[in-house]
Amino acid sequence: ADVHSNLKRNPNFKKLSQDDILYFQSILPSNALTIESDSNQEELMAYNVDWLRIHRGKSKLVVKPKTTAQVSNIVKYCNEKKLAIVPQGGNTGLVGGSTPIFDEIIISTKNLNQIREFDPISSTLICDSGCILEILDDYLAERGHMMPLDIGSKGSCHIGGNVATNAGGVRYVRYGSLHGTILGLEVVLPDGTILDNLSTLRKDNTGYDIKQLFIGSEGTLGIITGVSILASRRHKAISVAVLGLNSFENVQNAFITSKEMLTEILSAFEFWDDKSLKMVKTHLDQSAKFPLDEYPFYALIETGGSNKDHDEEKLSEFLETVMEKGIVKNGIIAQDNTQMKSLWSIREGIPDAGMKAGSAYFYDISIPIPVMYKIVEDVISKLKNAGLYGKPVIDVHGFGHVGDGNLHMSIITESYSPKIINLVESCINEWTEKYKGSLSAEHGIGLMKSKILENSKPKVMVDIMRKMKYIFDPNGIMNPYKFFPYQKYEELKV
Ligand code: FAD
Repeated sequence: ADVHSNLKRNPNFKKLSQDDILYFQSILPSNALTIESDSNQEELMAYNVDWLRIHRGKSKLVVKPKTTAQVSNIVKYCNEKKLAIVPQGGNTGLVGGSTPIFDEIIISTKNLNQIREFDPISSTLICDSGCILEILDDYLAERGHMMPLDIGSKGSCHIGGNVATNAGGVRYVRYGSLHGTILGLEVVLPDGTILDNLSTLRKDNTGYDIKQLFIGSEGTLGIITGVSILASRRHKAISVAVLGLNSFENVQNAFITSKEMLTEILSAFEFWDDKSLKMVKTHLDQSAKFPLDEYPFYALIETGGSNKDHDEEKLSEFLETVMEKGIVKNGIIAQDNTQMKSLWSIREGIPDAGMKAGSAYFYDISIPIPVMYKIVEDVISKLKNAGLYGKPVIDVHGFGHVGDGNLHMSIITESYSPKIINLVESCINEWTEKYKGSLSAEHGIGLMKSKILENSKPKVMVDIMRKMKYIFDPNGIMNPYKFFPYQKYEELKV
C-alpha cells in the first residue's frame, strides 16, 4: 500500500540538480556519496526503505559525512538552496521517521563513527553519533563499563538515532531514560550552525537545558553529530532466569515479588506470550532448545551486581518463593553465558520473527501494568467478531517491557489492510484514552504516528512543539513531513 498517497511534496523545496551534486562532490570524497545511477539502485534502496518495509522514499542522493564540519557545510548549503534533508542512523526506527517521503537528501551518520574519549573516573563517554550501540557497549566492556541502554536492534542502530528517538529498551527499568543519562550533545542546526554542548557535567543548572529538546526530536530540529553519555559500571555478576506462568496476573505478581526480593540487582523484567514463542521457534533459527514446557506466558529476569554468589542466592530464593506460592509454574536460571544469550535471543527475536511471519504491524503502548495484556485479548476478540482472525489476520502477539508498563503488540496478517488497521487502532485508542496511556511509549512519532500527536497532547503543548520547530527550522528542510505532515508549513508558525 502507498502509505504516502495523501501527502503532497512541499513545492517550496528545490529539486536536486547537477550543480548541487557538483557542490557535494567538491566537499566530500567520492566514497561518501551515493548518487542515483543504473548500477546502484539496490544500494540506494537500502537507504530509501525502512526496517518495516512500509515506507519507501525516492531520494536520489545519500551523503555520508565523516566530520561535524562536513555535516555543517552540507546542511548550510541545503538550507540556503531549500533542499530537504532526512537524517538517518541505523535505519531501524519503527515509525517511518528515518526514510524520505519524496526526494529528500539522506544524510547518513554511518561514517561519523569515532569514539572521542572515555573517562573511567566519571564514567563519561564522548563519541560520534554514528557509532553503533553494540560497538560502544563492547568498547566499554573492555573498560569495566556498559551503555545504560540496550535494545534488540543494538547491532545496527546508532547512538545518534537512539538519542533522536529517546530509545527505551530493556535496561530502562534500572537505568531510566536517556533524558537522564545524556550529559551533552553536539548538534548541527538546520541553518548549519554547530551547537557545541558536549558537556560531561552531571550537574549544570545554568538556564534552560537545551540538549533535552533534541532527545526524542527525531531529526526534526537538527542533526546530532556528537554524544556525551553517562556509562554504568559493568556488572561483575549477571544472571538470567526464565519463568513459565499461567496468567498475566501472575506475570504481575512475579514482577512485584522480583522488585521486593531482587531490589537493587534487578536489571530487566520482560515478558512474552506463548504465541510469540511459537513464532520465534517457527521463523528464526533457534539452535538451542527452549528449556521450559508450554505455558501461556513467559517472563525473563536479568540481575546485575558485583557478587555472583550473593546474586545467585537471591535469584534462587526468589525462584523458590514464587514457585512455592504458585505464582510461577516452572522456572530455570541460565547455567552459562551461552544459555543467557539464547534466552535473550527469544525475547529480542520477536520483531524479526514477526517480519518473517507475514505483513506485520507493531504497536508500542504505555498503559498501567494491570491492564497491559487486556488490550491484546480485546483486539483478538474484536478481530474474531469481525471475522478477520485466523484469516487474513494470522495472529496477534503481546510482549514487552513489563517493568516500564510498555506493551508491544504485533499483528501478523496475510497482507496490509486499512480495515484491520482501523479496527485495531480504534480498540487501542479506547484503552489508552480510558487509562491515560500513550500510543507511542518508546518508538516516537515519525510519519506513522503523526496523526496521534494532535489528539494525544493538549493543544497548548502541540502549539509549543510547532513553535519550536518553526524557530529552529524556518525553511522546514529538516526531516519534513514528520510530526506535522498534513499541515502547510507556514501554519506551524502559531
Ligand atoms: P534511525 O532509524 O536511522 O532514525 C530514527 C529517527 O531518528 C529518524 O527520525 C531519524 O531522522 C532520526 N535520526 C537518526 N539519527 C539521527 C541523528 N544523528 N540526528 C538527528 N536525528 C537522527 N526502540 C526502543 O526504544 N526500544 C527497543 O527495545 C527497541 N527494540 C527494537 C528492536 C528491533 C528488532 C528493531 C528493528 C527496532 C527496535 N527499536 C526499539 C526501534 C529502533 O531501533 C530505535 O528507535 C533506535 O533508537 C533507532 O536508531 P537508528 O540509529 O536506527 O535510527
